[in-house]
Amino acid sequence: MRKYASMQNRFEKETGIDIIIRMENKILIKKSKRKTISIQVLDDGTVQVKAPLRCSDKNIWQFVNSKSSWIQKQIDKTNKKQLFASSFNFEKNIYVLGKIYLKPAKFSYNKTAQLYLPKIADDIANRLGCSYKELKLKHSKRIWGSFSSTKQLMLNKNCIVLPLELLEYVIIHELCHSKEMNHSPKFWQIVESHLPDYKKRKETLKNYAFLLNLKLQ
Ligand SMILES: [Zn+2]
Repeated sequence: MRKYASMQNRFEKETGIDIIIRMENKILIKKSKRKTISIQVLDDGTVQVKAPLRCSDKNIWQFVNSKSSWIQKQIDKTNKKQLFASSFNFEKNIYVLGKIYLKPAKFSYNKTAQLYLPKIADDIANRLGCSYKELKLKHSKRIWGSFSSTKQLMLNKNCIVLPLELLEYVIIHELCHSKEMNHSPKFWQIVESHLPDYKKRKETLKNYAFLLNLKLQ
């Protein structure tokens, strides 16, 4: 064993804290005028800690340490998401409704979205007994869809890439807003009545969040 191998133990002993989290993850500490400490694992795996100005470093590390298993879980999730995102090759392939095809000489995500998304939305609305006045397809970096008080349904064009069961969740979610314009327990009950496994789909959809940032042509 090398001499310095015990340094970590010594450090932990001397500072009175256990090991925190794997160091390949960047830890960013931001002090500001706030009252509590919060920890967030960002999409790139950075662990962001927000703390009050007066909070000592020791206290911050103790807090981070007390949350280490939660942090590790979040990091594992972001790693998985990154791995999933990197499995997509938009140069070679096209992705339509969850399937992979070799990229043809001519292909347009816009046209494909315009051709199929209205039909799918219409079909689901009929099945649910919901209605909307107009369907708008656009690109948003933030959301998969929305439903306005004027009954306008908006779907993100990039929805055309999603597997059908996730697209179905997005559309059903938005259409349920025609009955309940919020995310109250009542709203989720309505969603569940149409889609008993919506929680699983909602969770899986998070893996596809990277698609929101892509401007697919
Ligand atoms: Zn919603």
